[in-house]
Amino acid sequence: MSGEVKGFCLHGKEKVMPNSKGSVIRNTSVINMEIPELAEGEILAKTLYTGICGSDNSACIGKSNFDWVERPRIIGHEFSAEIIKLGPGDHGGLKVGDIFTPLAMLGCQDEECPACSVSKWNLCASKEIIGFHRDGGFGQHVVLESDRVVTLMDGLTPEQGALVEPLSVVVNALHNKCEIKPGQDVVVTGCGIIGLMSAELAKAAGARVVVTGLSSDRDNRLRVAKEQGFITIEVSPESTLKSQLQNGISDANGISFGNGGKVDLLIECSGVPQVLSEAIDVVRPEGNICVIATYGNEVSINATHLTRTSLNMRGSMGSCRVDYMVAQKLLVTGVFPAEKYTNHYDFKDVNQAFEDSIKANNVKAVIKMN
Ligand SMILES: [Zn+2]
Ligand SMILES: [Zn+2]
Repeated sequence: MSGEVKGFCLHGKEKVMPNSKGSVIRNTSVINMEIPELAEGEILAKTLYTGICGSDNSACIGKSNFDWVERPRIIGHEFSAEIIKLGPGDHGGLKVGDIFTPLAMLGCQDEECPACSVSKWNLCASKEIIGFHRDGGFGQHVVLESDRVVTLMDGLTPEQGALVEPLSVVVNALHNKCEIKPGQDVVVTGCGIIGLMSAELAKAAGARVVVTGLSSDRDNRLRVAKEQGFITIEVSPESTLKSQLQNGISDANGISFGNGGKVDLLIECSGVPQVLSEAIDVVRPEGNICVIATYGNEVSINATHLTRTSLNMRGSMGSCRVDYMVAQKLLVTGVFPAEKYTNHYDFKDVNQAFEDSIKANNVKAVIKMN
């Protein structure tokens, strides 16, 4: 039985250019998995749907901010799964057949830990991320701690379940770090799924939203953003966000966006250092910058300008259980219209799904695992 269970495995860390012509997944392979014995508090689950995260792509192309991931590793932290076996120990009310999504981040749960003592496992210094610290959702079976199980809410499909984790990350950022208000003008830099989710939630909060991307995003991600009613702009070194805002941008009704080239809030989801450096030039005094991305290099910031404009720049890391509950509700109620943003693949096409995702030839890949 175990020989028939497959997983998509990261084994190398060669640096690969995402736009290179040939295959971009030479650091990975599909392998037969060995299923370990269940330890105290662990469960075995059959994976249902798994999403490809930007961080999975970054690890696959050997970006240095994912050098710490031990190889070989079956990656994947955005998934839904069905419990097929309970290991020894207490599992609360969980039972075989329950369908869930896992908390991506598991804290140390030490009473003395400043993060875990207030249930913020996402901020624990020794947190463990499923799919990076232990094998994850790109295995057809997965072993995990029952502490991290979040049973899916009534009405939520297993396909939608794979989107709960990324949406919860955006919920944490927008609820806790953005102070977004109706009528504000918001720029979301980057049109990966975190950017697109941020745009949808900012719109739902009453803001007008610009989404930025590269010319290579024109036919897929920016097109979908435009269809969803967002103002979209393509940026390049010759035509920066700052210069385009200063030249004037208007919405679909011809009403100008921003005020003198400045906006109320910028949500940084691109992970490009220059984009974050530029952000403080496009936000109004006392405006907000929320950073959800991480960066492969150090980012230079004009700190004096930050002081003189009294900007708020805040980071937002991951999410915790309370954010998962909100994310599920946003999916069930359609506030985030998941079907507009997902591209489905079968597990036999997992390599193609990664190729397409790394090359930004899709919006959000969700793989049917079994
Ligand atoms: Zn992720
Ligand atoms: Zn902790």
